[in-house]
Amino acid sequence: MSADCVFCKIVAGEIPANRVFEDQLCIGFPDINPQAPTHLIIIPKEHIVSQARALAEHKSLLGHLLAAAADLARLQKLDKGYRVVVNTGDDGGQTVHHLHLHLLGGRTMHWPPG
Ligand code: 5GP
Ligand code: ZN
Repeated sequence: MSADCVFCKIVAGEIPANRVFEDQLCIGFPDINPQAPTHLIIIPKEHIVSQARALAEHKSLLGHLLAAAADLARLQKLDKGYRVVVNTGDDGGQTVHHLHLHLLGGRTMHWPPG
């Protein structure tokens, strides 16, 4: 847990979030500022600053997060497809420095992203 991290506060229950998904390693909840009809955030319960800070010891956790995103997409019935995004660092547009996946769906996505 990192004391000034908003996502650690969500894990701890200090900031409310509608946990649409939870298991021993991660939680999923709606983004407070959705960019698509379905926009969920999936985070590890462990504080990892970013994808760039993930270590070899996190390999199975990283796979677990992607598998959770696939489960969530099925639960949300995103049958036509979806996008999983991991913004990383300043150039990646990361604003919350606790590793997270965005699961976006319910509309056609554009490429290249902005
Ligand atoms: P990033 O820009 O770091 O990839 O994504 C962080 C995301 O977290 C943003 O889309 C932002 O809307 C979302 N967010 C920031 N604070 C909160 C919060 O307190 N609750 C929820 N549900 N989402 C948040
Ligand atoms: Zn954190």
